[in-house]
Amino acid sequence: MIASPRTLGLIANLSEFSGTELTCHSPIDGSLLATLRADAPEEVDRKIGLAVDAFRQWREVPAPRRGELVRLYGSKLRQNKEELAQLVTQECGKVIEEGRGEVQEMIDICDFAVGLSRQLYGLTIASERPEHVMQENWLPLGPVGIISAFNFPVAVWAWNSALALVCGNSCLWKPSEKTPLTALACQSLFDDVLVQFEDAPSALSQIVLGTYVQGQQLVDDNRIPLISATGSTRMGQAVGQRVAARFGRSLLELGGNNAIIVTPSADLGVAVPSILFGSVGTAGQRCTSTRRVIVHRCLFDQVFDMLKGAVQQIGSSKVGDPLDAATLVGPLIDEAAYEVMQRAIERVRPHALEIVGGQRVREDLCGVYVHPALVKLNEQVESVCEETFAPLTYVMPYDSLDEAMLTHNSVPQGLSSAIMTTDVREAEYFKRYSDCGIANVNIGTSGAEIGGAFGGEKETGGGRESGSDSWKAYMRRQTSTTYFGTARPALAQGIRFDV
Ligand code: NAD
Repeated sequence: MIASPRTLGLIANLSEFSGTELTCHSPIDGSLLATLRADAPEEVDRKIGLAVDAFRQWREVPAPRRGELVRLYGSKLRQNKEELAQLVTQECGKVIEEGRGEVQEMIDICDFAVGLSRQLYGLTIASERPEHVMQENWLPLGPVGIISAFNFPVAVWAWNSALALVCGNSCLWKPSEKTPLTALACQSLFDDVLVQFEDAPSALSQIVLGTYVQGQQLVDDNRIPLISATGSTRMGQAVGQRVAARFGRSLLELGGNNAIIVTPSADLGVAVPSILFGSVGTAGQRCTSTRRVIVHRCLFDQVFDMLKGAVQQIGSSKVGDPLDAATLVGPLIDEAAYEVMQRAIERVRPHALEIVGGQRVREDLCGVYVHPALVKLNEQVESVCEETFAPLTYVMPYDSLDEAMLTHNSVPQGLSSAIMTTDVREAEYFKRYSDCGIANVNIGTSGAEIGGAFGGEKETGGGRESGSDSWKAYMRRQTSTTYFGTARPALAQGIRFDV
């Protein structure tokens, strides 16, 4: 299945990028989509230089005018939503409905950023000294390096770039080596908009193609004050330390190990569909996928059996070609992901009360398709504390909510969490004590809206992207005090320094 000319047609100058270093295969059937070159070190260096020049020009453009560029880009995405969604599905394998959702997320963040471009507010702070004015100003930061993961090949870039651009920054995007085509398509659409916009420099947003090697070059370059990196905790640990070593700033969005607690008062008609979407949706390849379900013992067997029935139904008839509208679970990204999933199942097997699914299916399609797996456990064992990026969900019992909370929080990651309850006390207790960046009530762990700040604690990296005041990460804060009097200026803290 070669990507149709319609979808690859989104990339205006594909031949310019052809080479031998990056081979792009579709996870749908393993077919070769394109072979691309990776940027050589001197090319990355040149692009960083261009990004610095572009930043110097762009920061002079008033923020609402910068917002206008993002507005035009949002319109361009609306016009090309279906083609881009198809390419997302062809390149990363998520079902087409989720491919469309991902492009919609890009459009939504553009809308958000347009409004934001008129709201980059600072503060006026009461000064302790007479005839003094103290202010907090937010200023453009510089070129922003964006490193993204394969599973949200376009939305995460849009979260970062839409905000970074209205904040007055230029962008350098190193997409996942598994999904460079969608990145090139986004860049082509951006370039189309840029030519209509006189006051924007041509290198305002650039792509750096390659692997971790090119990522590392961005990470180590002093000219890039902010690295926003999305991916595994392993990657984040390396990136965070290297950026810190040069006193740069990093915004890390890393792995999750998300759980849903199901209490005795839960409405199972709400809980079970939410758990299912979180567990098997996107073939378990979301950072917010539901990996653990912690169920009160009085509902444990019932909830497990309900989930088992649904997972078996999905595994037997709804796993397949993600471009087919009837499919709910597409392929895993590659063979390595399947092997990691199998190893996780083998590690947990000695502790499991029951294991459903996990085997390979649809071998006729030549991609890596699996029957989603469900593991029934008596307690949370060591291997459950690791993120397995596949449709593998552990179901465990609890007796008291304190105990459930302890189990919930005793993993190294802290991204998304949820409780299923109709008891307001349980809901408030959960929101207070969940150690995650996201804590939902009667909503699953995956599928966040762009309006809220997105991100997590602990090994998830502490970064916040997207809505709320996440824009502040893309600007530098300056405190400024002005004296407008004529007498000798007073010193703070009443200090006297009379000469
Ligand atoms: P990955 O860590 O293998 O790669 C992510 C990106 O980092 C790629 O572009 C890769 O080239 C780059 N990279 C890897 N090592 C690097 C290094 N040392 N220096 C610079 N760049 C480096 O992740 P993946 O397999 O593409 O994505 C899956 C992971 O991403 C999962 O752990 C998932 O939970 C996480 N993720 C997190 C979020 C979030 O918002 N928290 C969102 C999506 C995915």
